[in-house]
Amino acid sequence: MTELERRARELLDEADTRGEVKRLAELLEGDASLRAAVLAAGRARGAELPDDAVDWPARKLLRRARARDVESQVRTNPIRRDESFVCVHCGAEVGPLRRTDRDHCPRCLRSLHVDLVPGDRANPCQGVLDPVGVEIRGKDTVIRYVCRRCGGTHRVRAVLDGPDADDWEAVVAVSAQQEGG
Ligand SMILES: [Zn+2]
Ligand SMILES: [Zn+2]
Repeated sequence: MTELERRARELLDEADTRGEVKRLAELLEGDASLRAAVLAAGRARGAELPDDAVDWPARKLLRRARARDVESQVRTNPIRRDESFVCVHCGAEVGPLRRTDRDHCPRCLRSLHVDLVPGDRANPCQGVLDPVGVEIRGKDTVIRYVCRRCGGTHRVRAVLDGPDADDWEAVVAVSAQQEGG
């Protein structure tokens, strides 16, 4: 990374208050090569900037270069999601788990085929995941799923302790069903 690129990235990271944006914009105003570097750094962060943005008023360039286009960022890491939902299968009103992500219904154990990586909600399938088996993996109890719509498989950790744990009888029933073939 060149010194200019490093400076441009710093500018985008630093400009957090309106006062700072104004100060940094003044710095940019007289420096065309720094503006070009800010344009490149903004694009690298996912901002949509046309080539002529290098000639925009510096404040507009800064503001736009700092805006991240969330849709354009490909997520490769699990994203934490712990949300309330109403189970589409049994209708249970399920609250957040608070300790880890609530990713399946504690009453009927069903989940939804909505993630490509955990939490991204980027899977277009949206089918119901039916539990088909339970297995022990190290210290975790894992529920295995098959998607009702696409036939895809999925696994999540069962929640076995605490007041809002998975229904034990439901877990046993899935386990028995798999052993029965
Ligand atoms: Zn349910
Ligand atoms: Zn599916």
